[in-house]
Amino acid sequence: MIKKIIMNVPIVEMDGDEMTRIIWKLIKDILLEPYLELNTEYYDLGLKHRDDTDDQVTLDAAAATKKHGVAVKCATITPNAQRVEEYGLKQMWKSPNATIRAILDGTVFRAPIVINSIKPSVSTWKKPITIARHAYGDIYKSVEYRVEDAGKAELVFTGKDGKQVKQTIFEFEGPGVIMGMHNTDDSIKSFARSCFNYALDVKQDLWFSTKDTISKQYDHTFKDIFQEIYDQEYKAKFEQAGIEYFYTLIDDAVARVIRSEGGMVWACKNYDGDVMSDMIATAFGSLAMMTSVLVSPEGFYEYEAAHGTVTRHYYRHLKGEETSTNSMATIFAWTGALAKRGEMDGNAELIDFANALERASIRTIEEGVMTKDLASLSDTKDITVVNTEDFLREVGKRLDSILSE
Ligand code: NAP
Ligand code: MG
Repeated sequence: MIKKIIMNVPIVEMDGDEMTRIIWKLIKDILLEPYLELNTEYYDLGLKHRDDTDDQVTLDAAAATKKHGVAVKCATITPNAQRVEEYGLKQMWKSPNATIRAILDGTVFRAPIVINSIKPSVSTWKKPITIARHAYGDIYKSVEYRVEDAGKAELVFTGKDGKQVKQTIFEFEGPGVIMGMHNTDDSIKSFARSCFNYALDVKQDLWFSTKDTISKQYDHTFKDIFQEIYDQEYKAKFEQAGIEYFYTLIDDAVARVIRSEGGMVWACKNYDGDVMSDMIATAFGSLAMMTSVLVSPEGFYEYEAAHGTVTRHYYRHLKGEETSTNSMATIFAWTGALAKRGEMDGNAELIDFANALERASIRTIEEGVMTKDLASLSDTKDITVVNTEDFLREVGKRLDSILSE
């Protein structure tokens, strides 16, 4: 047996729910613990324990991420009314992701795992496209009003000194709708810094797009803040890394992305990012192959899979039926966190291990061994569909052979 790799500084480990919780344990048992002296600070974000601790565990896990710098998170249930009943919850706890994001003030980057035998729907795409979604404000924190009849809608801002600025939005002659939304310079600055840092990290060009030609104050502010921070803090670093910052209109960006080879980070406002990340995930194959990392402007990282807890598979698992759930994005959450830990601590062995595990996972699928969801997407001739656990064992075999090369 090989000597296990030592980790001096822990990774913050956030366990989760349902099928992904089952996968979490299997990944540790089969792919991590035999090779690593796995050093983690464990937080159980499973819904039951969040409820038992009045969600304090989520706050503690976020604080620990600020302390240790790197976290890996399992998918978790965001409770709704049905879950409150199912788990007998004290209250409808907020989404852990939203809580952690608010504490770390981070931006979420989503990137597909690209496999040669699974061709993207867009034939020109050769490299992954990462979407960076601004996770604060705009229509997600808006107030709306249904206008029932004729009347005048006005936008009023009252300053601290009581001074008011008033503008007419529209003079309605009949029913309609109005909405008020906002963003803050602080949030946009954090978003910009997270994006510039991430692009430097992965050495890819950064694209940013808004509709500044139409929205001359709102969207233009986003454009100006990005440009100012780029010029003052990042231009030299980008030039040194040989990467570019590129701003264009959202509609132009959409057209260019489709014609591109991929391989860039595309920063989007909140709504654009919501929509575009689903488009990119689907075009690259499947949500089960999307990784996600939350990057704070101070440089804290939290890795996870983009998909949820795969409830339908979990209920089948509980009935004793066999499942074929794709663990790729969860494996890559671990490898992302381990490689980042290695980078921060100067632990080359740990980085090599993370790379080897990624290669072993990709090789498994390229050799035709995969879970059910990928079978119809792959153009490999001989496909063997395996169950959840056997997939991880197949990855383990290839990991052994890569590590002994
Ligand atoms: P989901 O768990 O992503 O699953 C939706 C469907 O997508 C599954 O039923 C399955 O389709 C397919 N799928 C997703 N991941 C897969 C994988 N790894 N392997 C194979 N198939 C996969 O979304 P959901 O059912 O809407 O949400 C379930 C729970 O997850 C909810 O409680 C929600 O709050 C939570 N959630 C958490 C996060 C997070 O923690 N980041 C994100 C999203 C949702 P088939 O059934 O057709 O096979
Ligand atoms: Mg969405």
